[in-house]
Amino acid sequence: MVQRARRAVVFTGAGMSTECGIPDFRSPGGFWTRYKPIEFSAFMSSEEARREAWKRFFAIHENLSAARPGAGHRVISELMRRGHVSHVITQNIDGLHAASGVPPDRIIELHGNGTYAACLACGMRHELSWARDELELRGRTPACVGCGGIVKSATISFGQAMPEQEMADARAATLNADLFLALGSSLQVFPAAGFPVMAKQNRAQLVIVNREATGLDGLADLVVHAELGDVLLALLARLALTSANHSG
Ligand code: NAD
Repeated sequence: MVQRARRAVVFTGAGMSTECGIPDFRSPGGFWTRYKPIEFSAFMSSEEARREAWKRFFAIHENLSAARPGAGHRVISELMRRGHVSHVITQNIDGLHAASGVPPDRIIELHGNGTYAACLACGMRHELSWARDELELRGRTPACVGCGGIVKSATISFGQAMPEQEMADARAATLNADLFLALGSSLQVFPAAGFPVMAKQNRAQLVIVNREATGLDGLADLVVHAELGDVLLALLARLALTSANHSG
């Protein structure tokens, strides 16, 4: 399927980055379960909630900032370089697809990016080190240096609207896909999990690779329940073998 694909879309979830030391949403005791997310409306209306949200964010960020791309990220980057994959749609906020060499204009981050912060009023980018100094050295929650608006990590919180441009880009890439690979996602978080359904309805082939069953397994043309890094490395080896056979 991948050999034939020219516009495959890779759709990734937290399972993509567990081999890099970032726990997924469901792992018992992981920080995502210990630190329950704060709703967007609370963040906007309460200074206290903002202070708490930043504290939790920095606890998570320690882990994110230490992570490096894994074998799975590198294989996806290579598949794109070889012309099989057109876009990566990711639910992850860790920035590891970009770090593995996927061009930024081919990555669609549905839930934002946790490697920087942004003003919610004017969109101006702010660095996390500055936000941390504001909180820890100057004792105030970060406000935009440009317009004074509320600054938040550039991630999408529960209750926050999905980013319009990214949703439109993901829809366009999905409708253009000849193959849709859903990798390392429980496919339970909507609207993101709507994209594999959309691809299938649009007659793309759907492949799901995940350690455990997902809610959409019944819809897929191929389901693999295994470790993502192993599966993607095996895929790359198989592609190399096939192209060697073709040229020989
Ligand atoms: P999820 O936790 O709901 O599902 C992850 C799935 O990946 C699970 O079903 C698990 O069995 C599987 N998995 C874990 N490691 C695997 C591996 N090595 N090989 C194969 N399968 C593996 O995650 P989700 O569907 O992405 O939704 C959770 C939400 O939390 C998303 O919105 C995501 O943005 C966010 N999140 C992001 C990160 C990150 O940026 N790395 C980490 C945790 C959660």
